[in-house]
Amino acid sequence: MREWEKNLRQVTPYVAGEQPKDLNKIKLNTNENPYPPTKNMEGLLNNQSEMLRLYPDTQATELVEELARFYDLTTDQIFVGVGSDDVLAMSFLTFFNSEKPILFPDITYSFYDVWANLYRIPYERPALDENFHIKKEDYYKVNGGIVIANPNAPTSISEDLSVIEDIIAKNQDAIVIIDEAYVDFGGQSALPLLKKYDNLVVVQTFSKSRSMAGMRIGYAMANPELITALKNVKESYNSYTMNYPSIVCGAQAVRDKDYFYETLDKVIATREHVKRELRGLGFQMPDSKTNFLFITHEKLSAKELFEALREEHIYVRHFNKPRISNYLRVSIGTDEEMNIFLRAVMEYMKEKGILN
Ligand code: PMP
Repeated sequence: MREWEKNLRQVTPYVAGEQPKDLNKIKLNTNENPYPPTKNMEGLLNNQSEMLRLYPDTQATELVEELARFYDLTTDQIFVGVGSDDVLAMSFLTFFNSEKPILFPDITYSFYDVWANLYRIPYERPALDENFHIKKEDYYKVNGGIVIANPNAPTSISEDLSVIEDIIAKNQDAIVIIDEAYVDFGGQSALPLLKKYDNLVVVQTFSKSRSMAGMRIGYAMANPELITALKNVKESYNSYTMNYPSIVCGAQAVRDKDYFYETLDKVIATREHVKRELRGLGFQMPDSKTNFLFITHEKLSAKELFEALREEHIYVRHFNKPRISNYLRVSIGTDEEMNIFLRAVMEYMKEKGILN
């Protein structure tokens, strides 16, 4: 072994869902929104290339002010970053500096353990119950912080706000991060609890409900002291995380509330339709409050169905992990895409002799 090899940081990276180059594929594997972002941002950057000569505003003021208006917060309660992955990674670095283990469920967003390992943060993973719900009592023990995705991924389950509040209330000596990447599709946000608890950090994203995964915008909302701590860490790392196009386009997306709610309604209506159709075919799934479904069928191998769909150029997500290896996570696309998906599933079931 060469001497310097001993000094390399050993990490096992997060594996993102596949991004096929060919746009003819039906892509239901990374929970993107099938609808475009608000048209109000089209043309916004025309004639503004001059702005790219300059460094962007380190505070992303225009975007932060728009978010503050939308959520009825003050600007010092908001921190923005390059997708919620960036905001979460920065939050782990800022808030989880204890020798005690941080806690997050055994089945959840698979980036949490990657960041914990990267930053050498000890962690424990209490098991979700047999219906994939959080057992809140598991979080009533000594810890160095807590992170919970609500709604959770990949299970799609939204916990009652009372469960989340109990966990925050019982852990006032630690920071509790609630990752609300999917909350706009029907979950209950912990945002109202910010008035009551100073140990709460709520993280959201533009990638799902605002159709802007390609722009990379995420944000944390918390009391000003925690936001200052986040900014101090970020500015000790990279002052200019948010680029100019993200700041102006992000602000414009927040301004167009009508389009935001209209798009949400469409995704939710399609989700409910697909839920009914799949249940009619014998699939089981939690009652999703997200823009994806977490499905299983007792007569089918999830992995084989995943591969069969892929042959048909339909991409969904399969996780080869304990407890969930016979499930598929299927993002909600347009009605047309979901009908093609449903037809392919039915064809496959016929081939297997499960459907006439
Ligand atoms: N949290 C959860 C639970 C997610 O599923 C995702 C999407 N992969 C993210 C955070 C990160 O999303 P983004 O960085 O695009 O905001």
